[in-house]
Amino acid sequence: MSALSISDRGEGRTYDVVVVGAGFAGMYMLYRLRGLGFSVRVYEQGSGVGGTWYWNRYPGARCDVESMQYSYSFSDELQQEWDWTERYASQPEILRYANHVADRFNLRPHIQFDTAVQACAFDEDANSWSVTTSDGGTATAKFVVLATGCLSNARKPDIRGLDRFKGPVYHTGNWPHEEVNFTGLRVGIIGTGSSGIQSVPVIAEQAKHLTVFQRPPNYSIPARNAPLSGEDRAVFRKIYPEVRRFAREEAKNGIYTEVPDRGALDDGDNERRCKYEARWARGGLTFMSVYNNLALDKGANDTAADFVREKIAETVEDRATAKLLQPTSYPIGTKRICIDTDYFETFNRPNVTLVDIKTNPIEEILPHAVRTGGKDYEIDALVLATGFDAMTGSVAKIDIRGRDGLTLNRKWAEGPKTYLGLMSAGFPNLFIITGPGSPSVLSNMIVSIEQHVDWIADCLSFMRDGGLGTIEAEPTAEEKWVAHVNEVAYTTLYPQANSWYMGANIPGKPRVFMPYIGGVGPYRQICNEVAAKGYQGFALTTPERARAAAVS
Ligand SMILES: Cc1cc2nc3c(=O)[nH]c(=O)nc-3n(C[C@H](O)[C@H](O)[C@H](O)COP(=O)(O)OP(=O)(O)OC[C@H]3O[C@@H](n4cnc5c(N)ncnc54)[C@H](O)[C@@H]3O)c2cc1C
Repeated sequence: MSALSISDRGEGRTYDVVVVGAGFAGMYMLYRLRGLGFSVRVYEQGSGVGGTWYWNRYPGARCDVESMQYSYSFSDELQQEWDWTERYASQPEILRYANHVADRFNLRPHIQFDTAVQACAFDEDANSWSVTTSDGGTATAKFVVLATGCLSNARKPDIRGLDRFKGPVYHTGNWPHEEVNFTGLRVGIIGTGSSGIQSVPVIAEQAKHLTVFQRPPNYSIPARNAPLSGEDRAVFRKIYPEVRRFAREEAKNGIYTEVPDRGALDDGDNERRCKYEARWARGGLTFMSVYNNLALDKGANDTAADFVREKIAETVEDRATAKLLQPTSYPIGTKRICIDTDYFETFNRPNVTLVDIKTNPIEEILPHAVRTGGKDYEIDALVLATGFDAMTGSVAKIDIRGRDGLTLNRKWAEGPKTYLGLMSAGFPNLFIITGPGSPSVLSNMIVSIEQHVDWIADCLSFMRDGGLGTIEAEPTAEEKWVAHVNEVAYTTLYPQANSWYMGANIPGKPRVFMPYIGGVGPYRQICNEVAAKGYQGFALTTPERARAAAVS
């Protein structure tokens, strides 16, 4: 069935649940709630499903968790029938998968595309949310679920002259749908995070010249991407039950891998080097799980960081360029580690120049050049690989008003405050999927999305069965959780990096370590225990009690 037509849009407009966003989180939330018989409307500002994979169409975009794992587990039929063609699927393939899911589970009739949610206000008399959308409409819902994504608010840097640049400017997080052809052009790219690292080798092959403007360098591990054969898939599919169980219950980051039983300094130099070499040759994110203390102990971490720096020096022919590409100012893994295909090799190409804008920040952008360090680098097209206002950016764009007119932005002015990353006190019946205070971006996100969606779906069923009106995080439970999230973060090396986990990429954003680092398995257990104890730490009210409380 097709998506909603315009004439459907005015109809009813009272739902049990409004879901904001139709990425993997919003789609699965919709599927679960429909299955439970709730009426649901999903609003999506894009024209299609897929979220991240709808917007990030830049050259080289692909997942960095292996596809057989970076995929839904809720339907065995789905995971048995979908054929991933590569170890790490490319953006078009992941988007095809999202569309397949939308069709297979008949989700589109409940999704209103091209419609942004602009405001949500809690009506304390009616115990419901009033939701205002960009098409001028208003909907009423008992519950709102924010499935707005952690990396969905592309950040345009504030650089003098950017608006005067005469050529095209592209942001990796909001890439055009039509093909962009850089053939014969001098291209500049600003930013060398994950999107920059993925796109640089591909753009370099096309462009006449590519100038890479690098802020701090990043650690990157070879992906070793390769086609997946039917046999590869069959082997994997046989072990799916165990892979999924492990990812949910045992893995710290939701990825199936060996559990390390020793620290980096427990091995001698030769043995350690052999292990790093083996992981480097295997490729991928599991490089960081070779030892159990790389995120905890600086001495241990240095051994892995030194190894990667050596690999960069071995790969990049020009010594000065190699040196610039070696990260030294933060421990490896404390910023999102990147996975690449020929990133460092690309700097051996004669048509690629690396420019250090950490030491000499960009002074201004001229109509046909980027000026830094007193030099003008002439370019015809500019790519901004400058990342996102992560975790809170898309939530902050919505004017959310809870009890007593309190806005979420005001409440979170000093940093996000949630209980379990799922709800924020003062905002009844408003849930966040993979919100700050949950493992979220530190994990295979589909594992974390499915866990949150299942928890919320169970919670709404519980409320319906019990005739309950509102659920709300208790301020004391929230305070304790925020303190716990912080405490755990500061037992690790993570806060030592100026990362987007800390909000450090956004000028003026409070420096708070946002995701929960305690691990996907332990976190799931905590959430399950909270639910088993009658939603401990949440205040639950009957509609009558909630109304009486609002009046008094
Ligand atoms: C390039 C890239 C590669 C990634 N690779 C991986 C990976 O390999 N493994 C991994 O685990 N994670 C990866 N991620 C993280 C990725 O974001 C998640 O895996 C996952 O796709 C998030 O799904 P989501 O539904 O929560 O959010 P999103 O996919 O971001 O979807 C949110 C949707 O909400 C919509 N929206 C936001 N605000 C509003 C509003 N006010 N009104 C209406 N609609 C709104 C947005 O338009 C968007 O479509 C990657 C991210 C990026 C950017």
